[in-house]
Amino acid sequence: MTEAVGDSVPAAGGPTDAAWAAAVAAVRGLADDARVLLICHVNPDGDALGSMLGFGLGLRRLGVRHLQATFPGPADLPEPFRWLPGVELLVPQDDAYPAPDLVICFDAASESRLGDLADRLGRAGASLVLDHHASNTGFGGVNLVDPHAAATSVVALGLLDRLGVPLDAETATGLYVALTTDTGSFRFEATTPAVHEMAARLLATGIRPGDISRRVFDTRPFGAVRLFGEVLGRATLEPAAAAGHGLVWTYATRDDLARHDQPAYVLEALIDSVRCTAEADVSCVVKQSGDAEWAVSLRSKGAVDVSRVAVALGGGGHRFAAGFTGRGPLDGVIGSIRDALTTNVLTPHP
Ligand code: AMP
Ligand code: MN
Ligand code: MN
Repeated sequence: MTEAVGDSVPAAGGPTDAAWAAAVAAVRGLADDARVLLICHVNPDGDALGSMLGFGLGLRRLGVRHLQATFPGPADLPEPFRWLPGVELLVPQDDAYPAPDLVICFDAASESRLGDLADRLGRAGASLVLDHHASNTGFGGVNLVDPHAAATSVVALGLLDRLGVPLDAETATGLYVALTTDTGSFRFEATTPAVHEMAARLLATGIRPGDISRRVFDTRPFGAVRLFGEVLGRATLEPAAAAGHGLVWTYATRDDLARHDQPAYVLEALIDSVRCTAEADVSCVVKQSGDAEWAVSLRSKGAVDVSRVAVALGGGGHRFAAGFTGRGPLDGVIGSIRDALTTNVLTPHP
């Protein structure tokens, strides 16, 4: 392992010059036959995959020949991402280099988000962490963590630029998918002038934003449309929750998915329909992931810091978007959220 560079807790200002220099040195110093393994977080989203594959294509342009990309869990890629440039770099987790020369992690705030692949960090010659979660634990040898970056792809492009890799349309596609995913297509608070400047650079490579958005965000099977109808139909509004700021929540079971013959990833978009609710600051979708296990998505409009709620319940995320894994019966999971909400309200209800 290389020496840790930078503080274990990320500096508010983003990566230090020393951390950038160490990351550049780690890539430039690779031998011709070096094996490089890219890993993104479990249940990967557009930022995780787009940053990883976009960066991977950049590394290939640099001449890295032994290059794999992977993520923990089943190797199936959600349909909306199967067309991404660079998917040919993907290998199932069990086929990933057991002891790579360099590991690079994308969009993962902690080792726990790497599942069974976390062991590669200890066995690698060196490790880089590229991320933008304020809760990042600094688990890499070199940590490029910028809590102000709208997406991990902002950090990924920062490193590609410092490596002198020219931006092409294939790399830009992944980085654009990542940027649009984490900014809600330029609607969220994180949409700064720098975000639009980065988007302009990416678009200037000739990529087609209409096609990309339709494929990633606006295409789903008819069965998913029917499933959404059912799951939204049982949404519950609790105006008194979160000290009067309100909570709206719903849930989907594996049985719901089976009845509509749908894969689990279709539920990722559900939170966007739930969080529209005007009467609630906090929204929540609870998705069954095991017999008594639930993947919980939380969103806030600002009165509640949902990352604190998620961390209190064993997860993580950002102030406005966070998640955790709930265990036990559904009632208990909802109860734990209700309780955690009351202690994490930032502003009193008027
Ligand atoms: P999601 O609701 O799955 O879109 O996740 C929203 C945010 O919460 C993302 O930034 C994730 O990184 C984070 N997150 C979701 N689930 C977990 C978890 N189990 N542990 C830590 N962070 C999570
Ligand atoms: Mn992510
Ligand atoms: Mn992200």
